[in-house]
Amino acid sequence: MSNPSRAVLVIHGGAGTIRRESLTPEQEDAYHQGLRTALRHGHLVLAAGGSALDAVTAAVMALEEDPLFNAGRGAVFTSAGENEMDAAVMDGRDRRAGAVAGICGPRHPILAARAVMERTEHVLLAGEGARRFCREAGLEHMDPSWFRTERRWAALQEELERRRQALPDDGDPARKHGTVGAVACDAAGNVAAATSTGGMTGKTPGRVGDSPVIGAGTWADNTTCAVSGTGHGEFFIRYAAGHEIDARMRWAGLGLAQAADAVVLDLLGPVGGSGGLIAVDAQGHVALPFNCEGMYRGVVGADGVLRTAIHREDFRVETA
Ligand code: ASP
Repeated sequence: MSNPSRAVLVIHGGAGTIRRESLTPEQEDAYHQGLRTALRHGHLVLAAGGSALDAVTAAVMALEEDPLFNAGRGAVFTSAGENEMDAAVMDGRDRRAGAVAGICGPRHPILAARAVMERTEHVLLAGEGARRFCREAGLEHMDPSWFRTERRWAALQEELERRRQALPDDGDPARKHGTVGAVACDAAGNVAAATSTGGMTGKTPGRVGDSPVIGAGTWADNTTCAVSGTGHGEFFIRYAAGHEIDARMRWAGLGLAQAADAVVLDLLGPVGGSGGLIAVDAQGHVALPFNCEGMYRGVVGADGVLRTAIHREDFRVETA
């Protein structure tokens, strides 16, 4: 039954040790601005009665377009100095899912993931086959130089230098990672998730993170929840983070917030799986736990109020 008041969209722009002192007020404003733009794009879809799937796609497209975030334009580089992007989308109505791994070409990797879901009988396409599929699907392509930002290139040089000198890793994610994602519940009570990333700075070419792995960094099922993760992808894969939240709701009867907190704070945190995630259920409840210093994040409900935050409890509030 349609119930517009439960419609809600949650987004993230990456998690990690985002040190307050390393962000100027201008940079902080720019991140909030980028998050608000993405919330507006997704909210427009939900407010017009659109589906959660279309809302998360629209929000992630906006984040991919913003060079501040590590997805699409502004993606980080592999150790070989190339961009290899991963993305996934999942529809909670029927567990349909699509994902791509290790691609560079489509302006919006999330549309490539959606094309895999809608136009093939597969879930995950990788490498050269994925690139060919994207071209044949007629997706808008950009030259590799379009994705390149000086900031990410400098971050790669710093990381390579650190490795040459065998210095300890300070784990600064502003330099190393990020990811963008969105989850939504629409008026009909359907949930969906979308995640897109450049991965981690200096990753080995061919490395695939958690974002395109269904059940790890991306998950959606109407009977439980939709989840999009960000953080040290290898841990999210090993602990099947998204599906683990589903399992705790489904089999242990936990509520959304309880299950999401348990996975991020009690499961991933203690083993060194730094990061966070966003989640919604089909009643429109939301959870945004993280076990590190900050997570770029935002929420907009049926009231159209845009709430964005970077660190703990520093939500800025603006009307759409
Ligand atoms: N989870 C992403 C990956 O491992 C990176 C991140 O979210 O920071 O590819």
